[in-house]
Amino acid sequence: MAKVRFDGVRKVYDNGQVAVHGASFDIEDGELMVLVGPSGCGKSTLLRMVAGLEEISAGTLSIGDRVVNDVAPKDRDIAMVFQNYALYPHMTVAENLAFGLKLRGHGKAEVQRRVQGAAEALGLAAMLDKLPRAMSGGQRQRVALGRALVREPSVFLLDEPLSNLDAKLRHSVRAEIAQLHRKLGTTMIYVTHDQVEAMTLGQRIVVLDEGRVQQIDTPMALYQRP
Ligand code: ADP
Ligand code: ADP
Repeated sequence: MAKVRFDGVRKVYDNGQVAVHGASFDIEDGELMVLVGPSGCGKSTLLRMVAGLEEISAGTLSIGDRVVNDVAPKDRDIAMVFQNYALYPHMTVAENLAFGLKLRGHGKAEVQRRVQGAAEALGLAAMLDKLPRAMSGGQRQRVALGRALVREPSVFLLDEPLSNLDAKLRHSVRAEIAQLHRKLGTTMIYVTHDQVEAMTLGQRIVVLDEGRVQQIDTPMALYQRP
């Protein structure tokens, strides 16, 4: 069964702007799916609907075997990584990683275990006592990834996670995300406007234009038949 299913999903904003015109496609369990297209094509809107941050105007959206149209963000089995990191500046790395878990009522030992696990997976184990401002952009983005990782969600949502990094860091963080995906085998939905990023990272790619799905295929097939 598909992990995430869009079935005629449509988004009309309050001002009448149609951001997504009836999208229908499946993302398989464990798949790394990239949503790509120019600015304003509806990528973020699609992702934010999966996250539960935008209401769905029509159609059905499922995660696993559950229709989530009316399910609150915290009750969806997802975690989202934002492009601006959204770290708490006054908290250490460890506290940033632990915060969402504590909020959800996980016990101390469990929080500790997950924070350690994420820190090791992301090469942050030696930085747990640092504050975000004492870290590089790449390290901060790793903490942002870690905050999603500790949640152990069945779907990761990544919204342009490399856009605040310089070219060199972009390359290494991209490789880390690919490695993380291989290691975890978790479904990921990754939004970018960068075609190279899409082609190198995606197992399959959804190409969007003006709120419509233009193509869905593997990078190889898209490359041969642009
Ligand atoms: P992308 O992520 O591909 O840049 P978005 O999903 O952000 O595209 O936006 C898709 C369309 O919806 C654009 O035309 C954008 O201007 C519009 N849009 C996005 N957010 C809102 C909003 N809150 N209210 C009205 N229109 C919006
Ligand atoms: P989660 O429960 O998803 O781990 P948190 O409970 O830590 O997230 O934070 C709740 C919301 O606040 C999230 O949407 C997160 O992106 C946002 N957020 C976290 N840190 C900051 C910050 N420093 N400034 C603004 N928003 C933040």
